[in-house]
Order: sequence, then C-alpha cells, then structure tokens
Amino acid sequence: FSSVELTQHYISRINQLDKKYNSFITVNEDEALNQAKQADQLRANGQANQFAGIPVAHKDIFCTKGIKTTCGSKMLANFVAPYESTVTEKFSQANFITLGKTNMDEFAMGSSNETSHFGSVCNPWDTKRVPGGSSGGSAAAVAAQLTPAATGTDTGGSIRQPAALCGITGIKPTYGRVSRWGMIAFASSLDQAGPMTRTAEDAALLLNVMSGFDCKDSTCVDQPVPDYTESLNQPLTGLRIGLPKEYFSAGIDSNVSKAIHAALDVYRQLGATIKEVSLPHTALSLPAYYVIAPAEASSNLSRFDGVRYGYRCETPENLEDLYKRSRGEGFGAEVKRRILVGTYALSAGYYDAYYIKAQKIRRLVKQDFTDVFNEVDVIMSPTAPTTAFNLGEKMDDPVAMYASDINTIAVNLAGLPAMSIPAGLVDGLPVGLQMIGNYFAEAKLLQVAHQFQ
Ligand code: GLN
Repeated sequence: FSSVELTQHYISRINQLDKKYNSFITVNEDEALNQAKQADQLRANGQANQFAGIPVAHKDIFCTKGIKTTCGSKMLANFVAPYESTVTEKFSQANFITLGKTNMDEFAMGSSNETSHFGSVCNPWDTKRVPGGSSGGSAAAVAAQLTPAATGTDTGGSIRQPAALCGITGIKPTYGRVSRWGMIAFASSLDQAGPMTRTAEDAALLLNVMSGFDCKDSTCVDQPVPDYTESLNQPLTGLRIGLPKEYFSAGIDSNVSKAIHAALDVYRQLGATIKEVSLPHTALSLPAYYVIAPAEASSNLSRFDGVRYGYRCETPENLEDLYKRSRGEGFGAEVKRRILVGTYALSAGYYDAYYIKAQKIRRLVKQDFTDVFNEVDVIMSPTAPTTAFNLGEKMDDPVAMYASDINTIAVNLAGLPAMSIPAGLVDGLPVGLQMIGNYFAEAKLLQVAHQFQ
C-alpha cells in the first residue's frame, strides 16, 4: 500500500476516535497528505529511504515551522515557531509524515495530562482514567493506534510513566544523546526526548533517527550513534539484573510489584541472574527534583512576558501590568506553583538551604547508580507505583500527583537512560516494567526489552 493510503488510514482513525481520547492538539491533515504524496513519489523513483512515508506524531513541545506549537498552554495557544526543532527536523529529513501534534501537560508539568489548557487526555484502556503525563497524548495516540509511533520528552518520567499507564514502549535516552534544540525547555539539565512506540524494535529504529550530536545544543554529546537494531537479538545469557529494594517498597501497589516479579521469570529463562540491590538515596530524589526542576523552570519560563511571543493580555495599562496580567492569565495553576517554588528556592537567603542542598543530593543519587552498575548490567523495577488512576483523583493533591514519579525521577537526576515496556495487566490495566541502564547503554536496554516481547 502507498503512504497516502497509510496516512489516510491514521487520519481517519484520528477523526473518528480522537473525540473520545483528545490525544491530539493539532491534526496536520492536509500537509500530511502532501508529504505522503511526495514520499510515494520518492518510492516510485527508487529514491525512498527506509522510513519514507511512515506517519509519526510529535509531542506539542517540539517547535515545528508552520504548525502550531502550544506546549499545552494558553500562553502559546496560537504560537507558530519560526524554526524547526532538531528532533522534528531529523524526522522530516528521513521523510516521515507528520500526522500532528499531541496533547501534553502544560509545559510538561504533570503526571496525568490533566494540566493541559486543551483538556485532559483519556486513557484508551479505560476512558475514565488518566493516560499518565506529561507525554500522555503521545502515549494514548500510540495505544489507540491513531499513529504508529510518537515522540515524547522526559524530565522526571514523562515518557516512561505514560508509556506504562497506556501499555506501550518508551525510552528516555542518556542526557545529551538527543538534541534539545527547539524543544521548549522545562528543566534544561533534566529534559531529554525519546520515542514512544508499540515495540522495542520500533523504539530502536526511531532512536537511530533521533540521536546524535547537534552543535545547536551545548549539552548534546559528540559520541557516535550505534545502530540500535543491530544487537536486538544477541543472547542475554549471563545478564546481571538488579532489583533496587527501594523501588518495590512503600507506595508501590502490591499487585503491580507482583506483576513485575512474574515478568522477571522471562529473564531467568533467558539466562539472566537476578539479585536485590540498594539505591539508598532514592527517598531524597523526589524532594530534590521538586526543588531543581521548578528552579530551572522559573528561569526558563521568564521568557514568556507578553512582549516577545505568546499570550498578551488585553489593553495593558503599563509595562508592569502587561507582565503581570499576561503571565497571570496565560499560565495555569500548576505552572504558577512551579514558578513560585522555583523562584523561592533560588532567592537570596534560601538558595543555599534549598537549591545547593538539592544539588548535593543529586550527586549522591548519581553515585548510588554508579555503585550499583559495578555489580549489575540493568536495573529493573515497576515504572509507576500504580496502574492508571481515575481522572480527577489526584488533581487536588499535588504531592500525591508528584508521588507518581517516585520510580522514574532519580534517573533524570543522574542523566541515565531508562525505558518502560508493557509487562502484563493488573485488573485489566497495563503495568510497565522499567529498565535502567548505564550511561549510553541504550542498545543494551533495547536488546533486553526486545527479548521480553
Ligand atoms: N511529572 C513530573 C513533573 O511534573 C515529570 C514531568 C516530566 O517528565 N516532564 O515534573
């Protein structure tokens, strides 16, 4: 079949079904069909690469020239970027078709996709439940087969936790593996983009496309990109798996823990050895993250001032009023909470007590992982403490919401790669198995994940 037929298939599924899920903010219908025609032409001329004509959806945090980029916010509801992000540019160069931009928590702050200015996303497994966040639109769209794959970003779990709650695969690469150029910044020292797909093999293919050095991102690492598909089928005999006891303890639903332990049998049969390990500073990673991420966010979000781009209030009286009302009206409650927390943590007199302390904890968290990777190759755990919770359930309790990231956040503080793969069901809802690897061990993670499926 042709790319036009394939693209039409997904567009018509989006048009029919997405009223129910709300996983897209923008559908790129006409332009997607144009791109598909061009891809078919390349094929007819024998000039098509491996990916020409395959549709993909992008989280609405990646700037796309000519297509709105809202970041889930009223602040950017009508923003059209004058330039393209490196990630989306790489997809276009590989002749992928852009189906549209997916829904997300406002500025990627959230774990349920309920903070979006464009409304909550519903989990395709049970539409009364959340899809997870912040890349909930991407996760739901892949789970509902509205797109074969999507991009996401992960600052504290935003690829892995929605992948887990929607029963799909997602990988957050090592910090610096994928360029952050043109990806709207939340917490720059933690943010990293990655693919969200049905299988580990698809994730490997897309990571091949996304990875690599980019001189436009000063934190992007100049290290060769392996072909992530090459090692997928290499034997796992002798693989050493570590189970951190802190990731199976308080707050983790016992049925989720049981499902993960059952899933681990697959690896025993494949010749892996499994032992308990300890990451002693785990409990401190959540408070450290909720100082560092808001601190960076408060600085990153200062650019939204009603002057340069984005929302501007009606008839400002003076400059001060313009700032106050544009930001007051343009940002939602969770974003404001983070700006307040971050500004406070960075202010004179509190900086040492909160920000510096959090940075010291960050180093200890990283050291925990370094120690454990002397003993094991891969760390495994539940991705999220529970299966998908009900819409509205945690909206009045930010701390309960933050606890959804208890098993994902330390990875971002350390800058390590990690992924989530579907590992069975509890009461009819998907459970995610998280795998954490050493720096730049994406190929290992994908190999281990691939052989589960
Ligand atoms: N849920 C976390 C937060 O709200 C992580 C979000 C993310 O990874 N973008 O900050």
